[in-house]
Amino acid sequence: MNDKALLETAEFYGKKLLYWRYKFTGLLAEINKRKLYEKKNCSSIFEFAAKFGGLSEEQVRRALNLDKKFEELPNLHAAFVNGEVSINKLLRVAAIATLENEEKLVSAAKILSNRAIETFVRDEKENGLFKPQIEVKSVHVHISEEVTKRLAELQEKGIDINELISAALNKREEEIAEEKAQPVGPAKSRPVPAKTKKLNKKEFGTKCSIPTCKKPSEVIHHTQTFALSQRHDPNYLAPLCKEHHEIAHAINLKVREKRFACR
Ligand SMILES: [Zn+2]
Ligand SMILES: [Zn+2]
Repeated sequence: MNDKALLETAEFYGKKLLYWRYKFTGLLAEINKRKLYEKKNCSSIFEFAAKFGGLSEEQVRRALNLDKKFEELPNLHAAFVNGEVSINKLLRVAAIATLENEEKLVSAAKILSNRAIETFVRDEKENGLFKPQIEVKSVHVHISEEVTKRLAELQEKGIDINELISAALNKREEEIAEEKAQPVGPAKSRPVPAKTKKLNKKEFGTKCSIPTCKKPSEVIHHTQTFALSQRHDPNYLAPLCKEHHEIAHAINLKVREKRFACR
């Protein structure tokens, strides 16, 4: 077997192994309740799980805890017992699960990668995605020595420097609003044109545009499905980090467009 085939085969078996392990793990709580491990000459569910599934005590304990936690949450409980979702993901969503959101959590856990699920849970904790956060944090503003000196000189002259800075900030906002108001024709190609990219950067900077996220933006996401709109309208473009992009396509916008087709 050559290197590529060897790796691919190992990956293939590894995936199958995980799949069956989730299924096996999902049955343990019920076997424990019915004390069926005794029929296999095991003294406990831990011995049973080790013998027949190669699970550690810790893994069994986690499974039993999850089963208890999901007692009142039918959707999550079913996903767990049927082994549809990995234990790792279930542990992550368990922290925020309620009767109201559990259905949404199951579909999120089925679609999203581990990293995106982590981000998704954090967002849910911080009270929902895409909702602007009304929160004034004390931010350290870096002003260069040169600008500080120039402002100080103006202040000395009795000029209101806050008004001056406000005017500059307002001008920036007006420029962006004006550029965004320009009519946008059908796109010539799939990638976002350089000019639109530049405007997007001017408005959002270099970070993900989800208010609570500080990760660098990696992709310009079309909040109106490009396949339908056929336009790169800057009013419907949002720079997102990898995880929020995955979430945007999987859940929030119910867009099943090919992932990462956004540029
Ligand atoms: Zn996208
Ligand atoms: Zn983000």
